[in-house]
Amino acid sequence: DKATGVALVTGGNRGLGFEVCRQLGQRGLRVLLSARDIAEGARATAALREEGLDVTFEPLDVTSPESIAQLADRLGRQELRLAALVNNAGIALEGFNADVVERTLAVNFTGALRVTEHLLPLMREHGRIVMVSSGMGVLEGLTPALRQRIDPPTSKDALVAWVDEFARDVRAGQYEQKGWPGSAYRVSKLGLNALTRLLAEELRPRRVLINAVCPGWVRTRMGGPRALRDVEQGADTLVWAALLPPDGPTGGFFRDRQPVAW
Ligand code: NDP
Repeated sequence: DKATGVALVTGGNRGLGFEVCRQLGQRGLRVLLSARDIAEGARATAALREEGLDVTFEPLDVTSPESIAQLADRLGRQELRLAALVNNAGIALEGFNADVVERTLAVNFTGALRVTEHLLPLMREHGRIVMVSSGMGVLEGLTPALRQRIDPPTSKDALVAWVDEFARDVRAGQYEQKGWPGSAYRVSKLGLNALTRLLAEELRPRRVLINAVCPGWVRTRMGGPRALRDVEQGADTLVWAALLPPDGPTGGFFRDRQPVAW
């Protein structure tokens, strides 16, 4: 079952992103492996080309609007159309303070939002977008007051304001009173899941399918050596969501190719 088209993966130099590039390449796609570090990205790309896969390196730091704009511009000039976009780049930092919150949201939430918005014009009809999320991003346990503002999400502006408020409340030392979770990672993935639902509705007329996927606990630098899954297994549902048939689901949250409550 060969697939066709071009796929772009963020954070493709290692971990799950690298394995997603490999599996998409093995399925016959032309893969744009993106990474923020040029040497690392080039090394990873060369390794997959050694395996006979059609992989090209594209520099991309998802926290840099300039880097995103340059990528969109390069791809646009090639008149390239994307069949799949995998927003995989993510960080999980130690500790909890305003700095950790800002850095985490910048990659996991704002980065995925900006990359998606800038590359949308390049997505072909029936294109698929995968938001690499986490079981930490579920609504359960959130206070009703915080939850009702994103379930269902009403607009992108309101969602961005919700996430910004978290950062502000942490900086002001008020996050506990307001009922926020004490985890930047958790709020970033909650925001990402809500964003997925919003974009799914926005993109319905264009028939672009967008879903959030939890890879499970995977042995990568983030997951650590004791994680239960290898990258091959962790990447499976990400690749599945990137290659959904045209009548596939949109706006969902999946693990092991099955819908899970978000
Ligand atoms: P790794 O830490 O192994 O890889 C993270 C990747 O993200 C690296 O390629 C890293 O690049 C890249 N990245 C970080 N910041 C940026 C940035 N500003 N611009 C571009 N790329 C960036 O983690 P995983 O492979 O495990 O994680 C991949 C995704 O899976 C993440 O979104 C994570 O939240 C999610 N996930 C992982 C789980 C696990 O158990 N491993 C569980 C649930 C979700 P660099 O090498 O330059 O740092």
